[in-house]
Amino acid sequence: MHLSKLYDAERFRKHGIELVNLLADYLVDTQTSNSSKVINWEDPNNEYQFWNNFKASDTKDFFSKIIQRSIQIHRPNYMGHQVAVPAPISALGSLVSGFLNNGMAVYEMGAASTAIEKICIEFICKHLGFNQEASGFLTSGGTLANLTALLSARSKLHPSIWNNGHQEDQKLAIMVSEQAHYCVDRAARIMGLGKTGIIKVPVNDQFQMEPNLLYNCYQDAIENGLTVFAVVGSACSTSTGSYDDLKRVGDFAKKNKLWFHVDGAHGAAVCFSEKYKHLVHGIEFADSVALDCHKMMMTSSVTTALLFKSGKESYRTFSQEAEYLWAEQESEEWYNLGKRTFECTKLMMSLHFFGIIHLHGKQVLEEYVDTVHDNAISFSQMILRDDQFELAIPPKSNIVCFRFIGTKIEKEDLNKINKNIRKKLLKNGTFYIVETMLNNIVYLRTTLMNPFTTKSNLQNLLTTIKQIQNQNLLSN
Ligand SMILES: *Cc1c(COP(=O)(O)O)cnc(C)c1O
Repeated sequence: MHLSKLYDAERFRKHGIELVNLLADYLVDTQTSNSSKVINWEDPNNEYQFWNNFKASDTKDFFSKIIQRSIQIHRPNYMGHQVAVPAPISALGSLVSGFLNNGMAVYEMGAASTAIEKICIEFICKHLGFNQEASGFLTSGGTLANLTALLSARSKLHPSIWNNGHQEDQKLAIMVSEQAHYCVDRAARIMGLGKTGIIKVPVNDQFQMEPNLLYNCYQDAIENGLTVFAVVGSACSTSTGSYDDLKRVGDFAKKNKLWFHVDGAHGAAVCFSEKYKHLVHGIEFADSVALDCHKMMMTSSVTTALLFKSGKESYRTFSQEAEYLWAEQESEEWYNLGKRTFECTKLMMSLHFFGIIHLHGKQVLEEYVDTVHDNAISFSQMILRDDQFELAIPPKSNIVCFRFIGTKIEKEDLNKINKNIRKKLLKNGTFYIVETMLNNIVYLRTTLMNPFTTKSNLQNLLTTIKQIQNQNLLSN
């Protein structure tokens, strides 16, 4: 009895229409209201209490409260972490994925979304500059994609490890920028490389991996008895949005027969823009590229593409796994995706992306990349014009790091002041930005993810920061 109510089609129709109306109203509000908050900050324990005591009056109330009490990424004053402002069509695809729940590990468990996934992968490969040999798949997040790519790299260069494990006399290592995303470090440790297996190459004053040091670091590693098998370029780094010189990193990898992986989780999407694709010049030489569609390709989370220049490498990673699922284990079956992914069951994530390009055309990707990057340049110019603020570096991507310096403030107080500004902004909720630490200096950090963020939103952020600081001075 209860179960038939749970699955009742007419209830679903009613609640679904109510929900879409709620979300559409939310979307209208994000596009028209300047006064609504991006985040209604609540102490975690209070939030827990709220939900613990929550009794929804009806389904509409249930979903309304969730929307109200969640961070609202569609608001133009959302300038925080690197998560896409999902296009409505992507979210609808996500609903279909959630509803149909095709498991995706084998072809039968997701025929349409498996074929669509191949189309999405080919589309991305083409824009990265890969040829027909390239292939790949979608997986659950950049973190998992980076781990999977490094596993592929290892199994190419040291295939016996999959069966035999690491041998005592075999100390493997990877090379990576000291500014790389922490998940690369985590992946290496999961693979058993340990701390010594992660060679962190120092960065230059623009926070790019210093290509002149690659060779020295490599030599040091060899002298220390390590066998380097991969080098990871960041496109771009998370803190500052700095792009490593992929051409030079790629040349270095090639010369030394190392796997070249590009962590393009955030920035590889610039490949869709004529104006900005120069930032990833050299990415076409990578052996593998991780790219989060749920960052700069406007999809719902999680939707990550892992691309291989040589498609056959993508079949190698887990090739002794779960033989019961596949009759011909060693043959390459593009359509049995579980052979190549870490996941068994995964979302029908191709649906998050396909609607965007199929129904709206690929030009929206270029328009998006151009808009958010242009915004970052405009914002950095505002900061440069205002002597109460200072930029960390001229931005290359849509990530801008800056700090308040005021006029008569002691240098040693600035970290505390900027931390305090960020805390006040969070509690106030009108804007959402984050912070980062670079060379022991606290910076405010914005990622301009929302293509509807205007110059006036950005100017208001600077004005609000000054107001916060002035109020602080008054209350001191
Ligand atoms: C976001 C990001 C990651 C992590 O990706 P998830 O999809 O959050 O798992 C890894 N590397 C870089 C450079 C990133 O920007």
